[in-house]
Amino acid sequence: MGLAENHNEQKNNDYELKRVEGVPPTLCAIPWNHRFTNIGGEIQLCCVSEEFGNRVLGDDGRPLNMDHLQDDEFILNTRWMKDVRREMLAGRWPKYCERCRQTEKGGGVSSRQLVNAAYSRSLPNLIKNTQIDGTINAKVESVDLRLGNQCNLACRMCSPRSSSRWARDWMKVDHGNGVGADPITPLHRGSRYFETQGFWENFKKQAPHLKDLHFAGGEPMIVPQMIEALKVCIDSGSAKNMCLTYNSNIVTIPDEAKELWRYFGDVRIFASLDAFGPLNDYIRHPSRWADISQSLEDLEANFDQYHLSQVLVKSTVQIYNVTQIGDLFDYLLEGFKRVIPVPHLTNLYHPLYYRTQVLPRELKAAAREQLSQLKERTKRKLSGHSGNHRAHLNLNSLDDIIHFMESEDHQALLPTFLRVALSKDRYREENLFKVLPEFEVLRRYAPQPNPVDIAT
Ligand code: SF4
Repeated sequence: MGLAENHNEQKNNDYELKRVEGVPPTLCAIPWNHRFTNIGGEIQLCCVSEEFGNRVLGDDGRPLNMDHLQDDEFILNTRWMKDVRREMLAGRWPKYCERCRQTEKGGGVSSRQLVNAAYSRSLPNLIKNTQIDGTINAKVESVDLRLGNQCNLACRMCSPRSSSRWARDWMKVDHGNGVGADPITPLHRGSRYFETQGFWENFKKQAPHLKDLHFAGGEPMIVPQMIEALKVCIDSGSAKNMCLTYNSNIVTIPDEAKELWRYFGDVRIFASLDAFGPLNDYIRHPSRWADISQSLEDLEANFDQYHLSQVLVKSTVQIYNVTQIGDLFDYLLEGFKRVIPVPHLTNLYHPLYYRTQVLPRELKAAAREQLSQLKERTKRKLSGHSGNHRAHLNLNSLDDIIHFMESEDHQALLPTFLRVALSKDRYREENLFKVLPEFEVLRRYAPQPNPVDIAT
């Protein structure tokens, strides 16, 4: 999410997570000033709550979509949005915010906390200007845009919905017990809501008020409309006050974007990497670690020239990487100073069979031990890095990773995990046990491949 990470207020007061007096403990600025438009143009609460049925509904009960509706004031004041605000003001967690609730309960840093840290000064006013029924008269200040599903990767935990690259091969995978084997729909072939005249008219109206603009995908660096949106912001005169952020796999970053970044007040890159070296390439197929490390080194070397204020590696912790995430920590700590040398970790929730909770007890115990040692080791190494508050903060997420892994037992899904993983291995000519030798102990759970089931 962009808003959670980027507001200018944070630059000199990095991630103060203190509660603001008078603000209910479940309140989040998102339902007041944020617009999240998903890959297919779906209007949703925020990207963090995606799995929790967070489509914004019109007053007729139908989900809203950017294909045919772009009016911000209407969207902000639907009964659905008003109800979310009223719940937060009453000190209750809306059901859509389960992931933030769980993260805070596990000792991690939630997106809600980061958002509120960024907007701490405006929170009292947001509350004061909310009518009793939840109505507000606010402008969207923060936009999170997913410009379709065009992507250059087909990561193991992803699907055709988020990656056009997957659409081609999705039906070749044996998903095991039908889990995750959604048929390919027109949506998976990509929505083009961002090519409609209505979308651009609305975006031009939004641009003068925007403080935060975030792109994710698909892969935003390969979508030409990302560059067009930057030009709209520059032409509106607001870019210099704006924080521009990306979730990107950094396989490629266009030179034109790097040129345009200097017109923006603040540019931040959140690089999605899930491991170091060959394991990252295995998870994030068909990336090549050489390209990724070259991009990261380019961002480090040209940090000021590209007008960057933050480069943060974000990793989704899942069954594939929980035992080896330490290598990524070591790589960052040894080679980088401007790039934040500790990754931000979040737990993978879906698909369920990729959760860390699927590991058997002995591998969970080994992972716990490694993660605890990693925290201590990194703390010691960080003492040589002065003033990197965010790096220290990221270390806290290791506690949340351990808590999440141990909070539920889904070992019964091991055969499904292995069936899916080995099916992907077969058509990609990869080998789970080669990249993760510690998974040898899982062989006994592997179902025998049935050639009738596997449409390779
Ligand atoms: S509390 Fe979390 S899930 Fe809910 S709106 Fe805020 S960031 Fe999104």
